[in-house]
Amino acid sequence: MVIKAIYSGFKHLFKSRMTVKYPDQKLKMAERFLGRHILDIPTCIHCRACFRICPTKAITMVLLVKNAQQEEIPEKAGNDEKTPKKKKREEVYPQISYKRCIFCGFCVDVCPPNCLTMSHKYELSVYDKENLVYTPEQLSKKPSEEEGRYEIVFTRRGVSHAD
Ligand code: SF4
Ligand code: SF4
Repeated sequence: MVIKAIYSGFKHLFKSRMTVKYPDQKLKMAERFLGRHILDIPTCIHCRACFRICPTKAITMVLLVKNAQQEEIPEKAGNDEKTPKKKKREEVYPQISYKRCIFCGFCVDVCPPNCLTMSHKYELSVYDKENLVYTPEQLSKKPSEEEGRYEIVFTRRGVSHAD
């Protein structure tokens, strides 16, 4: 049994490796890869199209409150004349929960001014799942360009990085 295991390990010394050195080196994603969203706050027209199209209800519309907690606005409260927050309702922005998002890109496709786009960032794991909810301010921050800058090359020994 032990000899069999040693033989198996030895055999792989001469095979091409197909793994990469993640997380020290991160791969450059394909051009059309859909990762974490980026929101351009100044160009959002608060139309809610992204909110309506989302198939998993990952988007909620919230007020933009700098340095404060986001206030969630119910969808049907808006056109009611008795609602005292009518003016605020017009200034809502998408907040995305990555607990629900399936990265389909519908919200990006439907956004009239193209202020919602998707980056190549795929590392979203957290210790507390509440941190998977990204406020408009968080979405407006572009992921670091340092991430995903290595491309795969195929060599005689298998997969490697092009530095
Ligand atoms: S990419 Fe995510 S947030 Fe956008 S529509 Fe699809 S599931 Fe909803
Ligand atoms: S992000 Fe785009 S689709 Fe969503 S509310 Fe703003 S303008 Fe409309």
